[in-house]
Amino acid sequence: MNKKIKKTAIESISPEEEALFTSLRVKEWSEFHGQSSIKESLKITITASKKRKEAIEHVLLYGPPGLGKTTLAHLIAKEMNTNIRVTSGPAIERAGDLASILTNLEKGDILFIDEIHRLNKVVEETLYPAMEDYALDIILGKGPSAKSLRLDLPQFTIIGATTRIGLMSAPLRDRFGLVHRLNFYSPLELEIIIANGAKKLKVKVDQESIKEIAKRARGTPRIALKLLKRARDYAQVKAGGDIDKVNIVQALDLLGVDPFGLDSLDRRYLKNIIEKYGGGPVGVETIAASISEDIGTVEEVVEPYLLQLGFLKRTKSGRVATKSAYEHLGKKYTKDNQRKLV
Ligand code: ADP
Repeated sequence: MNKKIKKTAIESISPEEEALFTSLRVKEWSEFHGQSSIKESLKITITASKKRKEAIEHVLLYGPPGLGKTTLAHLIAKEMNTNIRVTSGPAIERAGDLASILTNLEKGDILFIDEIHRLNKVVEETLYPAMEDYALDIILGKGPSAKSLRLDLPQFTIIGATTRIGLMSAPLRDRFGLVHRLNFYSPLELEIIIANGAKKLKVKVDQESIKEIAKRARGTPRIALKLLKRARDYAQVKAGGDIDKVNIVQALDLLGVDPFGLDSLDRRYLKNIIEKYGGGPVGVETIAASISEDIGTVEEVVEPYLLQLGFLKRTKSGRVATKSAYEHLGKKYTKDNQRKLV
């Protein structure tokens, strides 16, 4: 399922915003808040590898977009004092592309592969011996006279990131020594991230506004920082420049982000299940088609947060909108729906 993932309105990133995120990007471990058990485990691995003067084991980071996978990869490289090369699953089209990346690595280098679930089969199989034995098997020639040549590679580390671990093959997954799932952030963790972002942007925000942004940021640092930036623009144009409890609500409402952090796509998704399919159960393909959205976007961006909020249930027979979802959208919840949830 090599679908290009579209992002929701809140998730989409313009070049100007990309630059903003680069300026806001966390560069020190001390600035990376939350995910404490992952940080702890990574730090132990890093310290041990440094003592042994070895590259760290291959690391797989998975979880919804915007939770800090890329940031962690850069922090690991910084801590290991090594180079990091960045690529992505769909960018490596042929085994030859991978061979040229791998043969250019130096001892201890990190290769960050984003969207690793989108590697094609041939490339993936070339990667296996590289990950396991630091070797590259190259086939020279074709047919019966073809010869296999084994090239030794320097010790290196792959950090893979994916939003869809379920789409990765088991043999690839098993080749990662460390596998970490990033979880949504708590509002308190997001508040610290927003306050730090505001300092970097040199914008004044009161505590109440920080709380409001954190509440509506879907547990995601990238969205929190994006909302902060949009609120800053709004405050600059409509108010004196500072973000306060009045203009923050106006700015966020204008963006279509409701008090639970749902955007128009989330609401369209839930309304569709409720209005067209009696609350479910309904298959994800059907919902995606009826709201004209890509299935990948629905599964990676929309559903994880709705599941976390308890607005959605995944059952064997399909997706079901919960009573809280009905209430949130101001829809009447009947006994009939309740039976379906059992
Ligand atoms: P992913 O790779 O999971 O999509 P990124 O690493 O690109 O996410 O993070 C998106 C943005 O959020 C970046 O600007 C990053 O600096 C910020 N960010 C992510 N996680 C944290 C964190 N734990 N603390 C502070 N900022 C974070």
